[in-house]
Amino acid sequence: MTRILVFAEISGDKEPSDEIISYCMKNFQNAEINAAVFTTNNDTHRLSATGLDNLYLLINENFLNYSTEIYKKAAVDFLKTHEHDIVLIPATPSGRDLAPGIASALNAGLTADCTEISLDEDNLLNATRPTYGGKLMATILSKTTPQFATIRPGALKFSGFSGKENTKITEIYPEIDCSKLKTSIISYTKKQNITDWANAQIIVAGGRGLGSKENFDLIYKLCEKIDAQPAASRCAVELGWADAAIQIGQTGSSVSPKLYIAFGISGAMQHIVGIENADRIIAVNTDRNAPIMKISDVSIPADAVTVLKTLINEFYV
Ligand SMILES: Cc1cc2nc3c(=O)[nH]c(=O)nc-3n(C[C@H](O)[C@H](O)[C@H](O)COP(=O)(O)OP(=O)(O)OC[C@H]3O[C@@H](n4cnc5c(N)ncnc54)[C@H](O)[C@@H]3O)c2cc1C
Repeated sequence: MTRILVFAEISGDKEPSDEIISYCMKNFQNAEINAAVFTTNNDTHRLSATGLDNLYLLINENFLNYSTEIYKKAAVDFLKTHEHDIVLIPATPSGRDLAPGIASALNAGLTADCTEISLDEDNLLNATRPTYGGKLMATILSKTTPQFATIRPGALKFSGFSGKENTKITEIYPEIDCSKLKTSIISYTKKQNITDWANAQIIVAGGRGLGSKENFDLIYKLCEKIDAQPAASRCAVELGWADAAIQIGQTGSSVSPKLYIAFGISGAMQHIVGIENADRIIAVNTDRNAPIMKISDVSIPADAVTVLKTLINEFYV
């Protein structure tokens, strides 16, 4: 049986690793789906009730904050004793840092920043990611074992957990000799305003069709009123109307909200790949034939600024 391991993150209620676990449970039902978490204690964990086959708690007081050296050593030692065929890591900032270190220590290949995964008839991982500046999607078969891939947050749809009981929980206490480390972390500063795409239920996005920064600011106003997350197309970012942190698409973030509302966005392929997992899309565009109008659940052929102002006035809160 194919053994798949997800290195999971546990700090929030819902993490990008939840999307990977959920996707594997739904699509790879003949595989053994396991997760390993770095933790400082053996407290009962929310992933213990999700239907994983095995949940490995890697416990050490040094796991309080992420450190490349410490996490890498523990992960490599763990994978040497608990062999897996496939190892999946969310392409979060720490996951992107950790994955290549573990893969190279095990002389294995890594397919980074994947947007799709599947198993072929030999149960090998086929990992798909944009390439050549996003002009092509390449499906890559890593020939080494374990097959490593990092998965872009939001790329795989979260559709709940299997809920199957009998997850086996194993506590592992990695030995970390801090005197042998080459680096030490002096301090951490948490960046403000990191967008929590994983928990965003409604996203309101603006594009070049809004015409000006002043008009783009209406996106923030509506978001405040309906408790939504603001987002932007790359054009809106390049025009200086929005911060790059809220860009959606191939070179931005992938999202999976219940509702995505796009104002003045044409729906270029590079934008659409970031919203494929949205449950519902509403597009407001003056051009009925804009690509986004064809993939939307509701298409409103109208001036985006007028609709935004009308909606803002509708919500009195
Ligand atoms: C390698 C690569 C990576 C890329 N990555 C990304 C990415 O991550 N994300 C991304 O978004 N793009 C990305 N792009 C750019 C992408 O190809 C498009 O250029 C971009 O998405 C277009 O942004 P837009 O829809 O805001 O602007 P436009 O394509 O100019 O569309 C503006 C739309 O607004 C409509 N409009 C005009 N006036 C109004 C009005 N008054 N009311 C309502 N609608 C109006 C127009 O009909 C039009 O459909 C990438 C491109 C490349 C080559």
